[in-house]
Amino acid sequence: MVMKTIFTKLLIGATSVLTLTLACSCQKANSEQLNGVRNSESQLYELQANYVTTSDLTTQESADLIKMKEEEKLARDVYSALYKKWNSNVFANITSSEDSHMNAIISLLKYYNIAETSVLGVGQFVNPDIQNLYNQLIAKGSTSIADAYATGALIEDLDINDLDNCITKTTNSNLLLVYNNIRSGSYNHLNAFVSQLSYIGLTYTPTYISQDEYNVIIASFSGSGGKGRKSMR
Ligand code: ZN
Ligand code: ZN
Repeated sequence: MVMKTIFTKLLIGATSVLTLTLACSCQKANSEQLNGVRNSESQLYELQANYVTTSDLTTQESADLIKMKEEEKLARDVYSALYKKWNSNVFANITSSEDSHMNAIISLLKYYNIAETSVLGVGQFVNPDIQNLYNQLIAKGSTSIADAYATGALIEDLDINDLDNCITKTTNSNLLLVYNNIRSGSYNHLNAFVSQLSYIGLTYTPTYISQDEYNVIIASFSGSGGKGRKSMR
């Protein structure tokens, strides 16, 4: 379980990871998904407009943001590659959302005058653990379309877990605003990939978040049109 080891290593690194958003899964809902992209972008601007004056970031908060920037890039770049491989719209739509998530983190880095705001080329990462993870995820997701959807669910599973951890490690209002919105987006993404797996008769079992947390997230989408998950898609 090389991937598990790498993921664990990331988590032991005590930092964060993340993910942002986007919505539903079924390919026939394409226009709705595109609307979701627009919504998430406009919501990002709204987030930035709501930043408040805070004290400087702690070392932990800064490290989390820097790591999360690359984690969002990881999600974006993996989904972009899997879209090219499988031509499934769910990857294209969520790629756009992950780009918004990455930019939300970058906006916080800039707000706090943290230097690490640049972004390397697609598939390239500063953090060697994330680089290794990217390579592993691309290999896994390229095996079959089912593995591609499972890879997406795994990334969102990891992101939600890391976001949960980030949220417990800060009281900064601006970070919490962005983290909570990005986590809502990750819920949408997780549900999207789980739905795709369900369409082909497969069930996802969470690796990072608890089964209880997973059940609550997925249940929030069933029969309610995603009620309560309207924030950042
Ligand atoms: Zn994201
Ligand atoms: Zn995501």
